[in-house]
Amino acid sequence: MRDRESVLVVAAHPDDEILGCGGTMARLANEGHEVRIAILAEGMTSRYQQRDQVDRKQLNDLHSHAQLAADKVRAKELVLCKLPDNRMDTVPLLEVVKVVEELLERFRPSVIYTHHSGDLNVDHGVVHRAVLTATRPVPGQRAREIYAFEVPSSTEWAFQRLEPTFRPSVFVDISATLDTKISALACYDTETREFPHPRSPEALRAIAMRWGSVAGFQAAEAFELIRSLRPAIT
Ligand SMILES: [Zn+2]
Repeated sequence: MRDRESVLVVAAHPDDEILGCGGTMARLANEGHEVRIAILAEGMTSRYQQRDQVDRKQLNDLHSHAQLAADKVRAKELVLCKLPDNRMDTVPLLEVVKVVEELLERFRPSVIYTHHSGDLNVDHGVVHRAVLTATRPVPGQRAREIYAFEVPSSTEWAFQRLEPTFRPSVFVDISATLDTKISALACYDTETREFPHPRSPEALRAIAMRWGSVAGFQAAEAFELIRSLRPAIT
């Protein structure tokens, strides 16, 4: 990482950003990098038969939880987009790409964290593809590094039946920020579950320790490097 990177986390649903890279975001922010979060789907509306049946107060609460969680990890900014929750495959990919392109135009990130494409959740795959499309390495592309994160209860519940499987190769030591990640997730009281659900605090700790044990750290988040560009220094 350079001295001061502009980091953008592109997530599908409120809580994915914390589950996927909450510890890494907190660490990057502590190290002086600018971390921003974009959540593309509005969250929750897939629980209703019709998108407009959603309880607006509950949705507003969810969005304020997202802001609280972003504050916990010291993100500089949170952007909530309004794509349909768990129905992103009903939206033309181009529309999702445009949302991502606008975010890139606005924030000019050099490092992007986003979903892994082989998740069980269909929105996660759409977001991954939209990010790859929006960051095509044409000359002048600012996004140098793209990492894919796992989302407990979506990545492993594909049971390696959806290609590609998650094969992490980058491990970030989050020993100092794991507690922040857990408390950020607690901001989402409607989205957390009791153990043994993978989105429970106990399971998140276990997952971080498991990846830590792979990498020689007390706790880690695991990522797949999707691509890294090293332009010549001019
Ligand atoms: Zn999700």
